[in-house]
Amino acid sequence: MPSCELDSTSKPVLVPQKGGESVAVIGAGISGLIAARTLQDHGFDITVFEKSRGPGGRAATRRIASGITFDHGAQYFTARDPQLISYVESWSARGIVAEWYGQFVEIQGGEVRTKSNQPRRFVGVPGMASVGRELASNLRICLEKRILRLTRSGDSWELIDAAGHEHGPFHQVLVTLPAPQSAELLGTHPFAAEAQSIPMTPCWAVMAAWERRIEVDWDGAFVQDSALAWIARNSSKPGRGSEPDCWVLHASPEWSATHLETTPDDVAGVLLQAFAQAVGVPLPPASFLAAHRWRYSLGSDPSERKVLYDRETGLLVCGDWLAGGRIEGAFLSGLRAAELLCEYSGSLSKPTKLP
Ligand SMILES: Cc1cc2nc3c(=O)[nH]c(=O)nc-3n(C[C@H](O)[C@H](O)[C@H](O)COP(=O)(O)OP(=O)(O)OC[C@H]3O[C@@H](n4cnc5c(N)ncnc54)[C@H](O)[C@@H]3O)c2cc1C
Repeated sequence: MPSCELDSTSKPVLVPQKGGESVAVIGAGISGLIAARTLQDHGFDITVFEKSRGPGGRAATRRIASGITFDHGAQYFTARDPQLISYVESWSARGIVAEWYGQFVEIQGGEVRTKSNQPRRFVGVPGMASVGRELASNLRICLEKRILRLTRSGDSWELIDAAGHEHGPFHQVLVTLPAPQSAELLGTHPFAAEAQSIPMTPCWAVMAAWERRIEVDWDGAFVQDSALAWIARNSSKPGRGSEPDCWVLHASPEWSATHLETTPDDVAGVLLQAFAQAVGVPLPPASFLAAHRWRYSLGSDPSERKVLYDRETGLLVCGDWLAGGRIEGAFLSGLRAAELLCEYSGSLSKPTKLP
C-alpha cells in the first residue's frame, strides 16, 4: 500500500476503517472526494491519488498573499438536487460555503442588462477550494502522485505513478479525471472510447488586482461578442477581503482554444484590454496580474449516465462530464459511484444523505 498520510488540512472526523474492500480513487476533485468520503464512511479502505499539491481540482483558489486570493477555476455553484442541497445546508451552517448575493449582468456591445431568473449561487469561504478541503478531511490522500497506468493482475488492480512506483493491490479503482485524461488512463478498456468522445473546452483565466476599486455597479458579468465570456469581482464574494479589488476574467471557449499556446503574459494583456472595453472604463495599472490556462474546463456527455461501471473488473469512472458538467454534476456523479459500490458490496448499508 502507498505510504500516504491522512489529509491534515482539517480536523479528523472519522478514523478510516481497515479491513474493508480496498478502493483506489484517482483524482481529488469534487467527484473523487465525495465518492471517497462516502465510501470511507461505509467501511471501504480508501486511498486517493492526486497529481497536484492539494485537493479540490477545478474548484480551486489561488492565494497570492494575505487578502489577495482568486477563484480562478469554478466561480460558484448551484444546488438543485436535494442531496447536494442537504450538504449545502450543512456546509453553510459551518461557514464552509455561503450564498453570493452579487449583482449579475449580461454585457453585449457595451450594453449592460441585469440578468433575470437568477439561480442561487454558492461559493466556498474563504475560497472555492474550501469545499474540496472539507470533503478531503480525514481521507488518505497521496498528493503529487500522477497515475499513469492501471494494470489488472488476478482479481486486483495495481497503479503505476509518474515516478514508476507501483501502488496496490486494490479491489476496485475509481477514475475521476476530466474526460480526455480519463480516456488516456483507461488505455484499451472500452470506457476509454466513451470518454474520448466527450470534448472538453479549454479556458484561459486572468487574475488581476487593483489598489483602487474599479467603479462598476455589478459583480459578475456574462459577456457576449468578446474574447471574454465571464468577468467577476472576486472581492465581492462573501468572506473575501475588499482590498485590493480582485477580479477574475475568463476567456470564451473559442478564444481560449485559438490561443491555447499563447504565452500567459500575452493572454493577460489581451484579456485586460477586453475587460476595459467591456466595462467601458479606463483601467489603472494592475497591482497584480497573472494568467492560468485550464486545458479542460467544461464539457459533458449528453446522455448523462453519471457513472460507468465495469462490475466484472471493479473499474468505475465518474466525473462532472458524466452528469451534466459543473460542480453539481461532479458531486452527483461521485455520489452515484459510491452508491453503486455500496449497493454491490453485500454487507454494507446504503449511504446516508447527510455529511
Ligand atoms: C475556468 C473554469 C470555470 C468553471 N466555472 C464553473 C462554475 O462557475 N460553476 C460550476 O459549477 N462549475 C464550474 N466549472 C466546472 C467545475 O469546476 C467542474 O465541473 C468540477 O470542479 C469538476 O470536478 P471533477 O471532480 O469532476 O473533476 P476535477 O475537478 O477536474 O478533478 C479531477 C482531479 O484529478 C486530478 N488528476 C488529473 N489527472 C490525474 C492523474 N493522472 N493522476 C492523479 N490525479 C489526476 C486533477 O488534478 C484534479 O484534481 C469551471 C471549471 C473551470 C476550469
